[in-house]
Amino acid sequence: MEQDEYQDENQNECHSDGLGECQTKLPTKRNTKRQTKNEVIFMGRSNVGKSTTLKVLTGRNVRVGKKPGVTLSPKNLEFSGLIVTDMPGFGYMANVTKQNQEKIKETIIHYVEDNAERIICAVLVLDAKAFIEIVDRWEGRNEHPIDQEMFEFLCDVDIDVIVAVNKMDKIKNNQQDITLDGIAERLDMLPPWRQWLDRIAPIAAKKGDVSALYALISDRLHKIGRDEWITHFKH
Ligand code: GDP
Repeated sequence: MEQDEYQDENQNECHSDGLGECQTKLPTKRNTKRQTKNEVIFMGRSNVGKSTTLKVLTGRNVRVGKKPGVTLSPKNLEFSGLIVTDMPGFGYMANVTKQNQEKIKETIIHYVEDNAERIICAVLVLDAKAFIEIVDRWEGRNEHPIDQEMFEFLCDVDIDVIVAVNKMDKIKNNQQDITLDGIAERLDMLPPWRQWLDRIAPIAAKKGDVSALYALISDRLHKIGRDEWITHFKH
């Protein structure tokens, strides 16, 4: 039983007499946790098409008729061993107070920190049309929007991030490379974006086109020796 592998956290308390550091450190729950990776998390600003992407990719309806911002906690979808997590949408939402937006952000950050060891990768969904516009607007005020902040945070805690650039159908064919270069650049990935084909997946979830994302998730599952889990995804 996995539970038996853990030492009670309290057993690690060092009742030092103040003369020196406690030498024997018993393992804690945290440092003996099995390193098995089994979770893919989906994150994104509200309205980028995260629910649509998840629906197309997994066949599960995560929104279930709820208004954006109503779900404040991460939702775990179970697929015999694999967990796919739908994080609450972040950023500005009509009818969601600033306080609740902040709460959502904190919830996501804590969830990622607490579960980092089991996270295979994070899929950050962006809106192809809105992302550059939002970043540039914030840059004018010398600030970074939450999508950029979240990307940096994920990288800082060593989570493998796949950037799913959604709503590509809204971008004219001859503008697609320019748009993707612009997005890559704003995430500190030197353009051309095609250098980052292992990280950037242009998709159009509403049109059922998620094949680039499927391929990258497939690659991540392969790398951890879990090819069988790709059967839980469609494309
Ligand atoms: P969420 O808030 O991120 O979960 O976003 P939803 O999945 O609810 O989608 C928000 C809106 O974007 C809906 O009106 C969707 O139909 C639309 N949408 C989602 N994906 C796409 C896409 O690939 N292209 C276009 N044009 N619209 C999309």
